[in-house]
Amino acid sequence: MTDSLHAQIQFNEFGLPVATAFDDIYFTNENGLAESQYVFLQHNDLPERWQTHPQSTFVIAESGFGTGLNLLATWQLFLEHAPEHLSLHFISFEKFPLQHDDLRRALAAFPQLKTLADELIAAYPSAEPGCHRRVLAQGRITLDIWVGDILTQLPLWLPHAQERVNAWYLDGFAPDKNPEMWQQPLYDAMASSAAAGCTFATFTAAGAVRRGLQQAGFAVTKAKGFGRKREMLRGTLPSNTPPEGPDHTTPITVVGGGIAAACTAVELQRAGYQVEVLTPGIADAASGNPQGAVYPLLHAQRSPLAEFFSVAFGYATHFYQQHTPAHWFPSGVVQLAYNEARQQRYQKVSAAVVDGGPGYDATTVQALDAAATQQLWPALPPYPSLYYPQGGWLRPGAVVQQLLHGVAHHSCAPLEAIEACPEGWILRTEDGQAIRRERVVLACGAGLKQLLQPFSLALQNVRGQVTQVSASKTSATCPLVVCYKGYFTPVDQGQHCVGATYARDDEDLQARATDTAENLANLIDNLAPATWPTDLTACADRVALRNTTRDHLPMVGALANNLWVIGGLGSRGFTAAPLAASALVATLAQTPLPLSANLWQRLQPQRLQADD
Ligand code: SAM
Repeated sequence: MTDSLHAQIQFNEFGLPVATAFDDIYFTNENGLAESQYVFLQHNDLPERWQTHPQSTFVIAESGFGTGLNLLATWQLFLEHAPEHLSLHFISFEKFPLQHDDLRRALAAFPQLKTLADELIAAYPSAEPGCHRRVLAQGRITLDIWVGDILTQLPLWLPHAQERVNAWYLDGFAPDKNPEMWQQPLYDAMASSAAAGCTFATFTAAGAVRRGLQQAGFAVTKAKGFGRKREMLRGTLPSNTPPEGPDHTTPITVVGGGIAAACTAVELQRAGYQVEVLTPGIADAASGNPQGAVYPLLHAQRSPLAEFFSVAFGYATHFYQQHTPAHWFPSGVVQLAYNEARQQRYQKVSAAVVDGGPGYDATTVQALDAAATQQLWPALPPYPSLYYPQGGWLRPGAVVQQLLHGVAHHSCAPLEAIEACPEGWILRTEDGQAIRRERVVLACGAGLKQLLQPFSLALQNVRGQVTQVSASKTSATCPLVVCYKGYFTPVDQGQHCVGATYARDDEDLQARATDTAENLANLIDNLAPATWPTDLTACADRVALRNTTRDHLPMVGALANNLWVIGGLGSRGFTAAPLAASALVATLAQTPLPLSANLWQRLQPQRLQADD
């Protein structure tokens, strides 16, 4: 693990955090909460502006998340004063995130915020670069923490945040202690991101800051500082015309009955859309296996794939904990280095963890030696491993059912084609119906391969067979998901799930005895010298098709006017779908994305066009 990204903190004689590297405080010793309320809330005219805000979301951006005190103060005020239809999107940039324990200790200074602080602490992300989205306050608050230097993160964020921000909290350690941050590109990005009527407030009154903000176009005024401080700055960006808002009134039809469709429907509803799901069945294809594992796909290099999965994983575990806690089991996941090639591959990931590289946090992944692996479960073979403490498994069918509870869904035969028409789209079903809808999201997994043929996208369906085995006395004690060439899940209702075969260009849905044998042989061979797998007997099999892309990244975005797609989720649909759906809905709703602009570009369906 690396600590290079974490803040180095000391606690002073008042028990309050001080950043060692900056020799500066996170908030004043006298009354940090009152200062936050005075400087940032009051001088952005909150809560008054919430009463008359013309859009459904109020967007705040902040430099320096620190302890999250400004978020908590805003959250508290928002719950007390904001109209019920309004939601809050709070975006904060943080170069050195606090460790969990430091965060807990720092926020203990504010017992009056305890309930909110506990929710934040439970959702607090790992310290990996990129955007970590969390949904708080029963869906009313979206928090995006962009980990990394704000000056490097802003250009990745800004393309999808132009004219979106309603208020800026310009925080950060004092300009003389942290001159690298207080630079013109920060002020210019604040101006580009400013919506009509955007305001800012900052605790400092430094002349260079005032001039920089003025140069960016802000009208800046001085105000009385907090407590003994003489002055602070506040201001507005003289209004440009408000941009036309997105269409929230036309209903959206989501085609599909698996995890991609369910996550999309949930995120659309949360964003205020009227949603209808059209599907032949719920969780009856790739999302219908008895058990599914959730863990990230990491590389030693910060590849787009590793970048996507390191943030998608954190969002997914948070999402299931919130929406489907009865069917989500954060048991941990271990990936065994069962042969030489795997050992080398996992060593590279762990070397990246040690040497900086992508800087995986120990809360995301830990490299274990053989002895430590066996401490996870003594019946494991003595192999080194990668361990994902926050990973786990879920019941896919039940998760999808529960997510779609409360979403209008209608049954229809499978789609065989989709055609543009003047009002939108005609969905042609296998039984000859022509269903007309204005705005459509295609989220139908393996069905996409045929449906998207007119768009010339290279997609592949990969057959997978999983085998259920009855638990033995030893296997029933397995406490976590075990991955090797295949995977083995902890017992659920007397059975384990052993997965999965991977057959390209094979769409046969009949179970095969040879595949059952392959699943069991992998388990027995890869886990040797452990002998307990030889006692297990197969009791059922299930076959489904995964929809995959050639670069293994999901395919998410617009295909044509009023037509979107979310697919290509491959074997990791339950890890990828929540964040992919959140990003898709953000583009529809025109709110800032939870992904860097580069990564979003990488997910676009057009990258898969045949002549690329
Ligand atoms: N807003 C915070 C709160 O409510 O607790 C307090 C912020 S604290 C005074 C300043 C924060 O800015 C620190 O957490 C520090 O790590 C962060 N910071 C400093 N320089 C930064 C940079 N270049 N990019 C992003 N964050 C930075």
